[in-house]
Amino acid sequence: MSGEQSRLETIERPEEVSPRLVERMLEGDLSWEEWRQLLKLPRKDPDRIHKYLRALQSRVGFADRILMRISDHLYIVQSPAGRIVKCDCGREFGDYRVNWKLSALVYIRDTAPSITEVYRCKDFAPEPGWSEVREYYCPGCATQLCVEVVPPGYPPIFEFLPDLDTFYRDWLEQPLADAASDWYTDRTTCVTASWKD
Ligand SMILES: [Zn+2]
Repeated sequence: MSGEQSRLETIERPEEVSPRLVERMLEGDLSWEEWRQLLKLPRKDPDRIHKYLRALQSRVGFADRILMRISDHLYIVQSPAGRIVKCDCGREFGDYRVNWKLSALVYIRDTAPSITEVYRCKDFAPEPGWSEVREYYCPGCATQLCVEVVPPGYPPIFEFLPDLDTFYRDWLEQPLADAASDWYTDRTTCVTASWKD
């Protein structure tokens, strides 16, 4: 039996989806046939989230427990300072209830020359004056974390504020030790309100 056949048989039994398969999924190393088999599983293996989180944890260089991944490079982690956003390079962006973009480096493209550097087709490029391209970078490793196209002056988009306590309590049945009613609250304006012009 070939290695490929062996892997596919494993996938057909959801209770046996291996941690290594989840790691390969994260690495983008699955064949189309393996993806197809995974998509056709009658139900997802019940501990997939734990395999996924363990695989993520093994890829980062910090010990803070990853509670949830929020983008390719950013995670909400349980740190001594509470639940914070952290880059896989270890850079911390603070309380996860505050839009992490406030703590990132930002490069704004708001002129035709700067916008056409990244838009090959002018017909689809944002129009300066009406829109701008904001590129957010990690101050620790300079990785591009996010790009948004918005009208000038528009607040940075807060893309994801998960209700972690509900997720861990009601979906995983493993409540977090520091569960509290005020975790699921957008606190971004608490920061911006303190800024002076
Ligand atoms: Zn980083």
